[in-house]
Amino acid sequence: MNRNLRNRVMAGLLLTAALLLSVGIFVIRGARQFVSSSTWVEHTHDVITALEHVYATVKDVEADQRGFLLTGRVELEQEYLANLPAARTAAANVARLVADNPEQAARATQLQDLVEKRLQASLETYTTYKTSGFDQARSMVAAGAGIDLMGRIRELHKTMAAQERDLLSRRVTLSETNARTLELSTVAGLGVGLILFWLVARRLLVEVRERRRAEALTAGANAELTKSVHELALREDHTRQLSRYAGMLQSCRSVGEAIDVSRQAIDRLLPDCGSAVYLIRASQDLAESIGTWGRPAASTAALFPPQDCWALRRGQPFESEDVGHGVRCAHVSAIDDASAWSICIPLVAHGEILGLANFSCGRAPAASQRDVMVAAVEQLSLALSNLRLQDSLRTQSIRDPLTGLYNRRYLEESLTRELARCDRVGKALSVLMIDLDHFKRFNDTHGHDGGDALLTHAGRLLQAHCRAEDIACRYGGEEFTMILPEVDAERARARAEQIRGAVETLDVYHRREKLGAVTASIGVATFPESSREAAELLRRADAALYNAKQQGRNRIVSD
Ligand code: GH3
Ligand code: MG
Ligand code: MG
Repeated sequence: MNRNLRNRVMAGLLLTAALLLSVGIFVIRGARQFVSSSTWVEHTHDVITALEHVYATVKDVEADQRGFLLTGRVELEQEYLANLPAARTAAANVARLVADNPEQAARATQLQDLVEKRLQASLETYTTYKTSGFDQARSMVAAGAGIDLMGRIRELHKTMAAQERDLLSRRVTLSETNARTLELSTVAGLGVGLILFWLVARRLLVEVRERRRAEALTAGANAELTKSVHELALREDHTRQLSRYAGMLQSCRSVGEAIDVSRQAIDRLLPDCGSAVYLIRASQDLAESIGTWGRPAASTAALFPPQDCWALRRGQPFESEDVGHGVRCAHVSAIDDASAWSICIPLVAHGEILGLANFSCGRAPAASQRDVMVAAVEQLSLALSNLRLQDSLRTQSIRDPLTGLYNRRYLEESLTRELARCDRVGKALSVLMIDLDHFKRFNDTHGHDGGDALLTHAGRLLQAHCRAEDIACRYGGEEFTMILPEVDAERARARAEQIRGAVETLDVYHRREKLGAVTASIGVATFPESSREAAELLRRADAALYNAKQQGRNRIVSD
């Protein structure tokens, strides 16, 4: 709560409390006044009663005396004598009751005087009776002794009673006015107090609501912050793993190794997804799967034409929100009608599309995971492109570009290695030295291109006659060598014969022109009979070839 609001709320509460306190005080005071008014009313009644009593006792004194003097009855005389002090006491009582009202007190004194005078007059008559007898006393009564005093007492008694009634009426009026004022003030005070209380309470409620909202906002912000921190940590972990993955990829020496490394890294980075990596064949007609792993949520064909993939067509990632129902690549399909999210990301390096990677999950992954997919594919693309480059460089260094056969350097390396191996396992090894007969003529007749076409065809033919373990090389010009591991002289001759026969049947066309009959001469040398040395073995095979040329070409000569 801010300071200003707190001050206002405190002021409101204090005002309400002060108001309610005032109302309380006012009510207590009113109640007291009411009690006091009632006491005054009672007092007035007491005064009036006391006045009546004075008048009555004086009257009794008068009546008892008269009765006694007329009848002579002793009990009346006793009553008379008893009432004398009672009348005095009654008058004194009135004086005591009105002592607080100076006006009435003066009258009470006057009343006491009159009563006393009346009693004295009565006592004079009684004394006369005592001294002179009934007749004298009766004549005093008949003469009206004390009657005028009785009239004055009555008058004074009336005046005092009227005065008391008047006081009573004024007090009642004042009391009524006070009661009304009290009622109005109480209602107004309570009303204003309640309104003030309501205003303060309402302000407090608004404040509480605002505080709750602020707390909820703070809690939301905290949750966001925690989430961001978690995401940041996750991203950091991803970055670390990706950089490790990139480092591993750089050290890969084959596509197979790159796929193994990718399997491990991507499995760890995207544990809830399935992945498949494709390379586009050199012929550009098919994309072929070279690795699949994880738990795919959608199935994707192992081989498909590139145009079946939106990502390959557009050269950018293509995402399918729901493989079963939305737009999707033709090579992707739902598994058992289950909903699945899938993305195809092209493998692009140096502006060339090498293939694609497909990822599929049960539901759309978080943005950070998509970033991981794209980053992983980027790394894999670069690695595959580098491997392809290395591959082509390696091929260039060991292959002859015209015929696709191995070159002489590779031949020499391989022959030494294979000789050692065959020697180790106690097997023979044969070398065929093959030379096209009168090749120069083809060049002369059909030009150098024609000669090249023939060399290309001859290369393919030799390749076709190779077993997996055989090595066919272009030794130089129109001369070829074949290493036949674990082949003895006899079988070598038979293989040479097959090749020679096949060359004879070659039909080579250049610029729609047939090149004419081709033949080849072949020299054969065999390890260990001819030699145990690679160079010597080649030389011996070459010598045999020379002999074949000498003997008329299109033939085989064994060393
Ligand atoms: P022989 O039957 O005695 O082997 O006769 P030949 O004509 O085949 O042999 P020769 O050694 O006289 O000639 C070989 C020719 O091959 C000479 C050379 O111009 C040609 N030649 C060498 N390398 C190439 C090549 O890469 N392409 C083409 N078109 N011709 C080549
Ligand atoms: Mg030749
Ligand atoms: Mg030659």
